[in-house]
Amino acid sequence: MKRLLIMGAPGAGKGTQASLIKNEYNIAHISTGDMFREAISNKTPVGLEAKVYIDNGQLVPDEITIRLVEERLKASDCKGGFLLDGYPRTIAQAQALDLMLKKLGIKLDGVINIKTDDLVLIDRITGRRSCPVCKEGYHIKSKKPTVEGVCDVCGATLIQRADDNEETVKNRLEVYHNQTAPVLDYYSKQNIVIDVDGMKDISDVFEEVKVKLGGNK
Ligand code: ADP
Ligand code: AMP
Repeated sequence: MKRLLIMGAPGAGKGTQASLIKNEYNIAHISTGDMFREAISNKTPVGLEAKVYIDNGQLVPDEITIRLVEERLKASDCKGGFLLDGYPRTIAQAQALDLMLKKLGIKLDGVINIKTDDLVLIDRITGRRSCPVCKEGYHIKSKKPTVEGVCDVCGATLIQRADDNEETVKNRLEVYHNQTAPVLDYYSKQNIVIDVDGMKDISDVFEEVKVKLGGNK
């Protein structure tokens, strides 16, 4: 059983590794970004509010995000372990998560930190293609689908995320360095950060993750 976080800059490869990890360890993958995009496409009140921030590359306010995660963590599929992807992104969110876990009587086993140079991130993000149905991620160079524009997993037509443009990426990187990097220090103090080299190929990054997490599924 694993209860994990995955952290890293936008485009570092969190979603890509999360998809591999969830299958390997059979745990729930909770991506706040995916949850917001789902809410936006369903035009829910949360989606309508979150859209403005996401389109500008800013963080959705803590209050909304924390409530979303608190509800999600109570779901039955999280009982066998989970991997939180893209949360927490602020110290306030990390503190709120500590409280949620305390209430549930559980602890985190580790925080996977995918380390990358900022220089590769623009290319990774502008080349990203995503499946709007099953959420599988692709890249026009490093992870091509078998048939161009079509999801290998479910056959849906791939899309480019509205916020995956160069202008928004600059904001997202700034937000990451200012607001999210301190969260890593927060967990370093608890000695639970597992650094992995995100500059390697997708499969090599995953090998490093598995070695460092250990075989205990
Ligand atoms: P994040 O969830 O951290 O924003 P993604 O997992 O969506 O990032 O990855 C961003 C893009 O980079 C995707 O198009 C993905 O296919 C690609 N990618 C992910 N990891 C690597 C890697 N190690 N090397 C090259 N490309 C990668
Ligand atoms: P992601 O899919 O992780 O790249 O997230 C896409 C966007 O959703 C981010 O740029 C934020 O605007 C928003 N978002 C995702 N997770 C969070 C979070 N934990 N806190 C605030 N905003 C978030």
